[in-house]
Amino acid sequence: MTAEIICVGTEILLGNIVNTNAAYLAEKCAYLGISNYYQVVVGDNEARLLDAINTAKDRADVIFLVGGLGPTEDDLTKETAAKAFNVKLVEDDKAKENIISILSKRGLDITNNNYKQALVPEGSIVLYNDNGTAPGIIMEAEGTVTIMLPGPPNEFIPMVDKQVEPYFMDKGNGDVIYSKVVKIIGVGESKVADQIKFLTAMTNPTVATYAKTGEVHVRVTAFADSEDEAKTLVKPVVDKIKEMYGANVYTTNEAETLEESVVHMLSKRGLTITTAESCTGGLLAGTIVNAAGASDVFNGGFITYSNKFKKNMIGVKKTSLDKYGAVSEKVAKEMAKGAQREAKADVAISTTGIAGPGGGTKDKPVGLVYIGCAVKDKIYVEEFRFSGNRAKVRQSTVAMALSMVRKYVLECYK
Ligand code: ATP
Ligand code: MG
Repeated sequence: MTAEIICVGTEILLGNIVNTNAAYLAEKCAYLGISNYYQVVVGDNEARLLDAINTAKDRADVIFLVGGLGPTEDDLTKETAAKAFNVKLVEDDKAKENIISILSKRGLDITNNNYKQALVPEGSIVLYNDNGTAPGIIMEAEGTVTIMLPGPPNEFIPMVDKQVEPYFMDKGNGDVIYSKVVKIIGVGESKVADQIKFLTAMTNPTVATYAKTGEVHVRVTAFADSEDEAKTLVKPVVDKIKEMYGANVYTTNEAETLEESVVHMLSKRGLTITTAESCTGGLLAGTIVNAAGASDVFNGGFITYSNKFKKNMIGVKKTSLDKYGAVSEKVAKEMAKGAQREAKADVAISTTGIAGPGGGTKDKPVGLVYIGCAVKDKIYVEEFRFSGNRAKVRQSTVAMALSMVRKYVLECYK
């Protein structure tokens, strides 16, 4: 199941308020096993909102519309959504009573505008609002579930928790939610999303993908009457994904990070590792050390940013630097071999690349990175072309470096 979140409000577009509702809903979607592929912000403008809803209709199973449910002229979410799905608006008695009761408690006069809030799309599920006058709405039409929610967080959050979440739980048929994550490295997000499309079409369990730098997490979530039942639904799907991605799956443990899985893998085999870093400048070593137990496998590494340090600390040849340049396959190899020798480590991993924003050329553009990996007497090098800014290139390099360590150590030590 896929969702699109559309937040309505010119003040969000202008940056006057921060879109915390979208963040809240996105986390809720992840918890419920719904893939959130798009988030849109649109001003209080009917034509553009209609356009956004029509676009979402074609690419999402669930559309969340947040804000614009108030009583004033510029609140047009309900009217526009009803128009997009050709549904009539009708007055809901209970919503009307709620409005009258809230306003009279506050000692306020009731105007015609207030009754506008009691209008709901015909046949929809009304989410009564305990904290304000605007009811929320779940409208099931044309194969799409459109969920409209009020903007003020003190109304929005309880409605999501107490009414939207149970709606999806019921849809999944059960009271228990259980999920398992499969963490994949070395395969692009869009490729994974495409390859597991046949799984994401399921409703129980649901299968959703999330991209992290260099990684893709696939979450399988089931709803059932008991945890055992939910686990039984989840297991075959997790097994299928593990079978599809083989060695690219580094863990199915929720809490385990990539660096932890690499450290465990090395320590299980009694291997030590060292680093020789140019473009990552210590980030790779720092990441390895994030993992508890790193001292079992990591004695130290080399930050060899300049050519001088590459030569003096880990014996990269001057001729290689002159002939191929620091960012080259040859130098990545010599860095890994040199670090392995100097540190007397079983495994060495080297990084050399152009993190940007300056320093790129036609032949060697920003984002070009070579990663070398020495495992015992074997040496491997891979070339990458990462996108994004300097920080992103460095983070992607670290993720791929760890991924290469996994791959080649598993290859050499089956
Ligand atoms: P109201 O009945 O108050 O008009 P509404 O459903 O029409 O509610 P909006 O008018 O869009 O909602 O927004 C009301 C207030 O809710 C905003 O001024 C802002 O403080 C808060 N709000 C709206 N949208 C968001 C959002 N996406 N994230 C965080 N806060 C929001
Ligand atoms: Mg409003």
